[in-house]
Amino acid sequence: MPDAELEQLASRIRSRVRDIPDFPQPGIVFKDLTPLLSDSELFAAVVRRLADDFVGRGIDLVVGIEARGFIFGAPVALHLGTGFAPVRKPGKLPFRTQRVEYALEYGSDALEAHVDAVRPGQRILLVDDVLATGGTALAAARLIKELGGELAGMAFVLELGFLRGRERLGNLPVHTLVRYGANG
Ligand code: AMP
Repeated sequence: MPDAELEQLASRIRSRVRDIPDFPQPGIVFKDLTPLLSDSELFAAVVRRLADDFVGRGIDLVVGIEARGFIFGAPVALHLGTGFAPVRKPGKLPFRTQRVEYALEYGSDALEAHVDAVRPGQRILLVDDVLATGGTALAAARLIKELGGELAGMAFVLELGFLRGRERLGNLPVHTLVRYGANG
């Protein structure tokens, strides 16, 4: 997609992201994507773009991070013709799990995946809604590696550029559709 089209898509996304100050705690401006999700054409365009960037890159599996990473990750998997695997908060997955601890923009947490979520050598695309400090994506990347997967790239709808998460994610392709500066 030429840059002008990406810019146009980005401006449509920005108009459908609602800022919620002080949620879930003081000082955090939460990026609420539900207005985007309710716009069928925009939702489809976002999913198509996230997937198109990784067509032809040999992706075998999309991994989505709970919870909003499921909303975007599952349709991206359908577009790429791959399966989907969830990475979830502790205690949610029913089968045997692998677990990693991580620090979040607000608080700390852990992530789990089923021990058979990834087959050794599978090339993985990791999907989430927002790249903030990068801690969550980094933890999910560790989980994928521990399970024997090969992380081929990451895709996010929004990037909070001022938190410099991208710098923590190394040399992998990291695709985001909208990048916010400190002033939005
Ligand atoms: P981080 O680990 O700091 O990159 O945070 C990323 C995770 O937290 C993603 O799963 C996001 O859904 C969520 N998140 C962090 N900050 C925000 C924010 N300002 N607005 C919405 N979601 C956020």
